[in-house]
Amino acid sequence: MSAPSASADASVISAAGNPRRPLVVGNWKMHKNVADSVAFARALRDARIEDHLAEVVIAPVFLALHATHSVLYDGAIALAAQDVHWETDGAYTGEVSAAQLHHVGCSYCIVGHSERRHLFGERDEDVRKKVAALLGHGITPILCVGETMTERDRGQTLPVVLNEVREALRGLDAAFIERLVVAYEPLWAIGTGRTATPGDAQHVHAAIRAQLLELGGNAGAQTVRILYGGSVKPENAAALLAEPDIDGALVGGASLEVKSFVAIVESAR
Ligand code: PEP
Repeated sequence: MSAPSASADASVISAAGNPRRPLVVGNWKMHKNVADSVAFARALRDARIEDHLAEVVIAPVFLALHATHSVLYDGAIALAAQDVHWETDGAYTGEVSAAQLHHVGCSYCIVGHSERRHLFGERDEDVRKKVAALLGHGITPILCVGETMTERDRGQTLPVVLNEVREALRGLDAAFIERLVVAYEPLWAIGTGRTATPGDAQHVHAAIRAQLLELGGNAGAQTVRILYGGSVKPENAAALLAEPDIDGALVGGASLEVKSFVAIVESAR
């Protein structure tokens, strides 16, 4: 595997003294056509969203990546895909490779989102291969992990989440771990309007960082940005992002409107 390139400058120190630059990612899921995606990207530029502390990433549908990149050409707002296939090319109808994503300007890619795991049967093994393929093409994986409501009620949040982290990174050279972004997304909070309390989310984020420390050593663990996802809105973002191990947000529903997405980006200080 070739060495991945460094992700965008993650060393800006926030007012809270966090050495990791906050990162806010808008996951548009299967919303917006090509024209809508381009118009939205233009509106974000007009709102000068890139002047805020947080690094901003948007994840349109595959179909809109190329056209959206032409609006974001200077990299001030970065582009993410929502999924990837681990092979470079070949007879894999309907799939898109990391090399192809790189070619259209993606610097990030969401992997292991709970909708892929639970609606489309994605396995830990698939997630692992996707993470490795992305790193090999200089794309930063945004590795999603999270527990179901039942697992949470059974007190299994940390075992489930940490197992997903370990499985996704199994066999990966420790030096690559610092290239990752991890997103903790409790399934019961996604699209439901329910959010983990900042304290509960911080508890899980600190455990993920400790796990990364075990896998990748101190430098890796301190560099990796761990995002929270699950009904993040302008009203709850600031409190979540103020926690020491919450380095940003993966935003679904509230990323579909310019006003609410900009407000979330502004709340990272
Ligand atoms: C998501 O799907 O990644 C997500 C966090 O969605 P929402 O913000 O709508 O809960």
